[in-house]
Amino acid sequence: MADTESVPPKGSDALARRGVLFILSSPSGAGKTTISRMLLEADDAIRLSVSVTTRPPRPGEIDGVHYYFVDDAEFDRLVEEDDFYEWAPVFGYRYGTPKGRIRAALKDGQDFLFDIDWQGTQQLYQKDQQDVVRVFILPPSIAELRRRLESRNTDEPEVIDARMDRARAEISHWDAYDYVVINEDVDACFAKVREILDAERMKRQRQTGLIPFVRELMA
Ligand code: 5GP
Repeated sequence: MADTESVPPKGSDALARRGVLFILSSPSGAGKTTISRMLLEADDAIRLSVSVTTRPPRPGEIDGVHYYFVDDAEFDRLVEEDDFYEWAPVFGYRYGTPKGRIRAALKDGQDFLFDIDWQGTQQLYQKDQQDVVRVFILPPSIAELRRRLESRNTDEPEVIDARMDRARAEISHWDAYDYVVINEDVDACFAKVREILDAERMKRQRQTGLIPFVRELMA
C-alpha cells in the first residue's frame, strides 16, 4: 500500500486539533455528490477516505489515490488485525475502510469525508462515535427528487421508479443523523454543510491543543 498521508495545514488558529470523520448521506438525486465535490475543492484539511480493495486497478487508477490495492492475503491480514471500520464483498472482490491509517491521520488534524449510505454510517458510528459527524441531505420535495432523477435522462421509467423506492427507504433513516440539511439550493446547502464542519472542528474535545494553551494562559 502506498503511503500518501500528509499533515494538513492547521488553518487560521494554530492550535492542534483532532480530525473529524465527516459523513454525508442522502438519497440518490439529493445532491450529495455535488456537495462532496464542492467541499473537497474548497477545503484543504478534508479529504475523501480511500478504501482498501482486492480488485485489480482499472486503467488510470492510482494506488493510494483511488484505492489501496492489495492481494487477498493482505486483505485477510487486515481483517484478522481488526484494521477495518467496515468491509464488504462487492461483485467478487472485497472493499473496506482502513482504520489504522485514518486513526493516525485524525490525530494530526486530518478530516475525512465519507460519501456513504445509512448502513455504512451506522457501522462507522458504532466503531468510532467520538470522531464521527453525520449529515443527511434531503431533497426539497419528492416531486423535485423525481424531476432531478428524470433530468439525468439516462434511465427508463421503471428504473426511475425503483430509484424513487430506494430513495424513500434511504430517507426513512433521516433520524439516525446529527444534522439534516434540505437541499433547495445547492450553494445554500453547501454553505450550511461548511458551517457544520467548521463548528464541529471547534468542539472543545477536538481542540487537543487547548490544554497546554490554557495552562499557559493561567500560569
Ligand atoms: P468499484 O469497484 O466500481 O470502484 O466499486 C464497487 C462498489 O464497491 C461500489 O458500490 C462502492 O460503493 C463499493 N465500495 C467502495 N469502497 C468501499 C468500502 O470501503 N466499503 C464498502 N462496504 N463498499 C465499498
